[in-house]
Amino acid sequence: MKTIIVKLDDNNTDMEALKAAGRIIRSGGLVAFPTETVYGLGADALNPAASEKIYAAKGRPSDNPLIVHIYRLEDLYEIARDVSDAAVRLAGEYWPGPLTMIFKKKDIVPLKTTGGLDTVAVRMPSNRVAAEFIKEAGGFIAAPSANLSGRPSPTDASHVIEDMDGRIDMIIDGGSCDIGLESTIVDMTGEVPMILRPGYITGDMIKAVTGQVDHDPAVFGKMSEGLRPKAPGMKYRHYAPKGDLIIVRGEREKVISYISKGINEAAGAGRKTAVLTAREDEDAYPGEALKISVGARDDEDEIARHLYGALRQCDDEGIDIIYSEDFSTPRIGQAIMNRLIKAAGHKIVDVAGTGGTGTVLLPG
Ligand code: AMP
Ligand code: MG
Repeated sequence: MKTIIVKLDDNNTDMEALKAAGRIIRSGGLVAFPTETVYGLGADALNPAASEKIYAAKGRPSDNPLIVHIYRLEDLYEIARDVSDAAVRLAGEYWPGPLTMIFKKKDIVPLKTTGGLDTVAVRMPSNRVAAEFIKEAGGFIAAPSANLSGRPSPTDASHVIEDMDGRIDMIIDGGSCDIGLESTIVDMTGEVPMILRPGYITGDMIKAVTGQVDHDPAVFGKMSEGLRPKAPGMKYRHYAPKGDLIIVRGEREKVISYISKGINEAAGAGRKTAVLTAREDEDAYPGEALKISVGARDDEDEIARHLYGALRQCDDEGIDIIYSEDFSTPRIGQAIMNRLIKAAGHKIVDVAGTGGTGTVLLPG
């Protein structure tokens, strides 16, 4: 299949191109589009055959439901039942934006879109190109992240082209994504809103609106401990680079010394290493490693924005071993580390108090 690639941004929402994208969706095709979180791979959410194509293009397991994207609040009531006051207040505060809410679904939403569940996940993106595209496409776009299943989510059109060129009808290139991490998912079907996937909208931000918030225990835990995450997608190995990723945490000096030793040993064995570091630490590591600064330590937005691109860069450069510093930053650190820990397959070394020899930790 020949994939059409069009370049648009906030200043150039070329309506002809967006109308063409809308026509592709209405006739059952696939279009990748930018959002403020990551790029989405869109299809008509109300057309089961179209949703099915998403799973095929990504190689995604069919029990992993898609998020339905809308562009105006009134459309929520077309697809969701029992929308609570708390949900309306959250929408008022954080929509359009990086928050996905789960509701009981109406019959109009096919089970192919919801992975067989009787609930539907809904989000209203703030990205202007995304909103115009959804409108032109009829109002309901099912979209997971536009990567091949298992790879890091795409935060730039070049990532989408890498994974999806030749597999889908169109890619809308809207440049780099502002946030760079997938949306917060909150289940609104219970008494208390429950976070299933952390993101840019934090638990505190939800609590400030609804008064209470819970977390699915699987957000913090390891799947092998028998926890079944409520968001089916969270059980799969995700965001993973091809090389071995190891997170090293502890006092700065010990972290640097542990990773440096690893880099030197790997270099001796002819293996390529990379280190994901805060900008301040970049020069502290040996030159044998590819050093990827993800951002200033106190700029968590910058770190989030660059994380997936850094993991992809490691793949592009054929890196065997990737070390990463810990980025447990105050506000969105939970979301950053949730992704990084999954990408590392839970390999974390804690060098605190061990004289730098390291203990492999399995976070609970
Ligand atoms: P992605 O867009 O690739 O980040 O995937 C969407 C995420 O939303 C996956 O983790 C899904 O499991 C989750 N999700 C979508 N719909 C539902 C739902 N109805 N209930 C629980 N999780 C959902
Ligand atoms: Mg995804």
